[in-house]
This record gives sequence, structure tokens and C-alpha cells, in this order.
Amino acid sequence: MRIVMKFGGTSVGSVTALQKVVEIIQRYRAEGHEVLTVVSAMNGVTNLLLDSANKAEQGDEDTAHQARQTIAEKHASATLELLGDGPVRDDVLAQVNALLDEFEALCHGIRVLGELTPRALDVIGGLGERMSVLQVAAILNHHDTPAKDVVATKLIVTDRRFGSAVPLIEETATQSQAVLQPILETGQVPVITGFIGATQEGIQTTLGRSGSDYSATIIGRAINADEVLIWTDVSGVMTTDPRIVPEAHPISHLSYSEIGELSFFGAKVLHSQAIRPARREKIPVRILNTFEPNHPGTLITEKASNNGRAVKAITAIKDMSLITVQGPGMVGIPGIAGRVFTTVGQSQASVLMISQASSEQSICFVVPKTQTPHVIEALEKELSREVERRDLEKMQSYGDVVVLAVVGSHMQGTPGVSGSLFGALGQGKINVIAIAQGSSECNISLVIRQSDADRAVKLLHKEFGLDKPE
Ligand code: ASP
Ligand code: MG
Repeated sequence: MRIVMKFGGTSVGSVTALQKVVEIIQRYRAEGHEVLTVVSAMNGVTNLLLDSANKAEQGDEDTAHQARQTIAEKHASATLELLGDGPVRDDVLAQVNALLDEFEALCHGIRVLGELTPRALDVIGGLGERMSVLQVAAILNHHDTPAKDVVATKLIVTDRRFGSAVPLIEETATQSQAVLQPILETGQVPVITGFIGATQEGIQTTLGRSGSDYSATIIGRAINADEVLIWTDVSGVMTTDPRIVPEAHPISHLSYSEIGELSFFGAKVLHSQAIRPARREKIPVRILNTFEPNHPGTLITEKASNNGRAVKAITAIKDMSLITVQGPGMVGIPGIAGRVFTTVGQSQASVLMISQASSEQSICFVVPKTQTPHVIEALEKELSREVERRDLEKMQSYGDVVVLAVVGSHMQGTPGVSGSLFGALGQGKINVIAIAQGSSECNISLVIRQSDADRAVKLLHKEFGLDKPE
């Protein structure tokens, strides 16, 4: 089989982890598979880089200088163990240092100009992956596994949305095949940078934080992979956050729709867009644990097996606010919903949930709290005439709420799920502020107060039998 394996920040972030990575790749190759890898920056590096860039804009270059030392030290100590103190290591460290010189020069420029553009931020943010591929490829080569580092600006072609670029499918397929095929034909393992791509003109972009997952599925699709494996530091997608519910455990099988809902609603295990390329080509995706490589993890395919559970997972996404547009004249204003959401869209805010009562007296929707002032301002401007005429009331926002998502495709056709859901919340005296159900019936989402969130998650996890092992 042709397998794309993504190794996340913790999986390439320490000597122990990197040793596991080598073992995993060797094992799959020994079984006769063709392996391609996509790797993240070493754990914590991306944060250091981005933070330094932001500080430089405010006139502080010391942060960048310190970050450089920390990052250099991370690579120096990992390579010392895994490559030994010799010319191979010297070569890797020289290349890492050249990238760090670039980093410091960029931060210097930003400080002098006092300006940090999204485009510059993408160049800086992607440096961690560029260092990481050099290191991983050298370690594999040193352990008798031929490997070749590849920078994904040559593979993934994107639009110009810096910070959350969208891949162009056709172009990416053509370029990826052209670059990767010859490497595969010589029996080498391509070690590809996660997170980054480039526009058609070759300007570097990034796919958004945690974007290496997305890189893996984009490349999987581009080169017709048979499977995509996401190697991380947990044994699959959990029934809920184990920090809230200690009984939470990995789910063995999910459908593309289910994981789509879960990652959209804040399950940290997969980038929110990552499942889409796999889904298009029906490529199975597995979430696996680098530190427990024999655990089966979570398999994601078109149809999920019915494990006898209508609800498979519960997530809560925090720090949201609910914005309400309402007024007595709402029914009579043509195209009001269209105008509201066009305005919200233009202010670049992402809407997590929408709910409108059938009386058409109000529309409410949820956006991240940080984006609220911006959205309210834009709406007030757009709807000022209607507010003046008192057809609409002033926009209201209700902060400190969470969106709780209850996910499972077998809720469809299982009567009584919402009954148990609201029954349990009612008994727990948890007030539900708004509700939405996707027509796929794969997800019911609720807005509740942030202070009730953990308790609600615990109650529902138990109510739907997720406390017991599968
Ligand atoms: N290194 C990038 C980040 O921290 C991408 C990734 O790890 O997936 O967001
Ligand atoms: Mg990640």
C-alpha cells in the first residue's frame, strides 16, 4: 500500500519520539508498504517563531534572539543522540542555523519597519517545519532508511489567504506527482514539511495552526494514497476531553461526517479541514499514537460501524459568544438573514452555529468571543437604518458561552436521543440558551453558559453510556 504518515510536533519533538518514528517507518517498509511522511515542527517551535515575530512588531528583538537559542538547542540535542557528533550532524545543524539566521533577519526587518504582514508571518511560521524535515530525513538516512527532505512549497499550491490558505486541487496533484514520484521510484522516503504551501507565484503560505494534518491528507489525495496515518500523542479520537472526564477513551471507528463535526467543534485531534481531501477520494484515515504504536487508535472511513451507541462523542468549544439580531419588524425586512450573514462573513468571523425560531422574530448565532466586537460593529453599520426605524433592536451579545456538540451518525433514526439529552441537562439544572441540529442528524449543538460546561459534559458522557469501554 501507499501510505502517507504524518508525525505531529510531539512525535518529532524529542529523542524518544524520534526513535519511535524511525521504528514505525521501518516497520511499515519492512511489511512492503511505500511510505511518505509529513512532519510538523518540533514541539513548541512554531509558537516560539510566531511569538517572536509578534514581539518584533512591537519593537522587541530580544525574544527572537532567545527563541533562536532555544530552537538551536532543541535541534542540537536531538541530533547529538540520534546522529552522533560527526559530519552528518554538523551538516544538519549548519542548515538549521542558516534558517535561524533567516529568522533573525526577518524579525529584525519587522522591528525596523514596525509592521508584520500576514505574508511575512507565514514565512516565519513555516521555518520550524523546514528545520524539522532536515533533521528527520538525516536521522532516517543515518538509520539505513533512505530518505529525502522536501519543502511543500513545491507540492501544495494554494490561494493567497495567508494564515489559512486553501489548496488548489489540480495544481497540487500535478506538482506533487512530479516531485514525489521520482523520489519514490528510487526507494526513498519523502520527508515533507507539514503546514506550508505556496501560491502559484511561489509565495509561501500556511494552512492554519495544526495544518500538518491537512498537509497529509492533501498530499494523500494528490498522490492517490491508500491510507493516511496521523501519528500523534494520544491513541485516537476520544469520547470527550479526558481532562474533564477521566473515563474518556478512544473511539475505534468514526465516519468522515462524524470526525468532520468533531474537529469543527473543537476536538483538538485533527485540523478542521483535514478530513475533506480524504473524504473526497474515500481514503481511510487512522489516528495513531507514536508512543503506543500497537494501539489500534481510531479508524475513519465513509461509513462508521454501529458500536451500539447513538452518541459517540461530546465536545465543548469554549470562549464563544452568542449574538442576537431581533426586533418587531424583523418579519418584514426582506433578505435580513442574507444581509446579517454577508456582513458577518465580510468581517472574517467564523460562525459556529446558527439558530432561528420560526416566528422569525430573531436570529442568533455563535462566533468566537475575540471576534465579537468586530462583528457587532459591522452589523450596527449595516443595519443602522432598521435600528433607527426601530424595526430592529440594538444588537446584543451574550459572552462566556460554550457550544456543546453531541456527535454520532447513529443518532439518525434513534428516537429519544434529544429526549435523554435535554432530560439529563434539565435534571442537572443546566440552562440551554440555544439549540441547533444539523439536518444530517449527526450532530446536535447547544449553547450553554461556560460555567456549566464541564458539568454538562460529565453528565452527558454518562447519560449516553460513554463511561463504559466500547
Ligand atoms: N507546526 C504547526 C503548528 O504548530 C503545524 C502543525 O503542527 O500541524 O501549528
Ligand atoms: Mg497537531
